[in-house]
Amino acid sequence: MFLGIESTAHTFGVGISNNKKILANVRDMYKTESGGIVPMESAKHHKRVAQEIYQKALAEAKIKESQIEAIAISNAPGLAPCLHEGMNFAKQKASELKVPLVPVNHCIAHLEIGQSVGAKDPILLYASGANTQIIAYAAGKYRVFGETLDLGVGNFIDKVARSFGLGFPGGPEIEKLAKNGKYTELPYSIKGMDVSFSGMQTKIQQLYKKGIPREDLSFSLQETAFAMLVEAAERALAHTGKKELVLGGGVACNSRLQEMCKIMCSERIDKTKFFCPEKQFLVDNAAMIAFTGELMFNAGIKISPEKIEIKPRERTDQVEVVWK
Ligand code: AMP
Ligand code: MG
Repeated sequence: MFLGIESTAHTFGVGISNNKKILANVRDMYKTESGGIVPMESAKHHKRVAQEIYQKALAEAKIKESQIEAIAISNAPGLAPCLHEGMNFAKQKASELKVPLVPVNHCIAHLEIGQSVGAKDPILLYASGANTQIIAYAAGKYRVFGETLDLGVGNFIDKVARSFGLGFPGGPEIEKLAKNGKYTELPYSIKGMDVSFSGMQTKIQQLYKKGIPREDLSFSLQETAFAMLVEAAERALAHTGKKELVLGGGVACNSRLQEMCKIMCSERIDKTKFFCPEKQFLVDNAAMIAFTGELMFNAGIKISPEKIEIKPRERTDQVEVVWK
């Protein structure tokens, strides 16, 4: 049994896996009525809910603490105060239970959980709040083929939502508004496999002040931003010759993004397979941390509780991948 802990940003979660099967995936998210994430507040939230989420996960998996072999902790990348809370909790449990820790890179976990729906060697389109990257395994490492040059697509959507007077997370609200909108042109910014969103954010704010309805701006935001992501993902597929695409991250819950990915994959000559994990595995969650921790542990990766450290800025390609 492997326990996973997620605390990199707004979500505190505990997941349990055994032989690559997910037995529990319990999470609680820090939310706001208006405004974005305040890292210290999110960290306080994690501290407050940790013990309860942990107990719920054990109950959901119907296991005892004594069955836990190792604790996987998402120690990178993320918001330092949030990572700290997760690490302290993991350290304390690992010491109590006398089990080792496994340090898991959050972005890589989004890719690995694609295995649970059948992906073997995919391109990951990771579209979340803070992160927007196109990641794939190549020559011994997970490499970033493309990424945002400014803000993550989710943070961009949340900022637009905030300027419309909506709270965090804004993505689901924008998706609702988009259903009744029509197209208006927005800046489309892609360079190679990299994307950027700040120009579109400024333009949306200008158009909103001029009286263009939120519905039209939300619709156009989705069409434009997601087309950029899908174009970058397709370029990575063509470049690497890989034949699978996996979606990850909270923005991947958006049904228009899913639809656009599906169309792109089916229209490719080599019929790329498209995998979209269940929603509970798309958003930040600890099941993917437990799952990845198990793969890593089985390849010999473990660390004693006093040696663990957080790495808020760790890059995907800094991780030594010995489990593949
Ligand atoms: P994550 O950081 O991966 O947990 O994802 C959180 C981000 O996903 C936030 O920026 C949300 O606004 C965004 N999000 C959640 N649901 C949707 C949706 N249906 N459409 C667009 N963005 C979404
Ligand atoms: Mg994430």
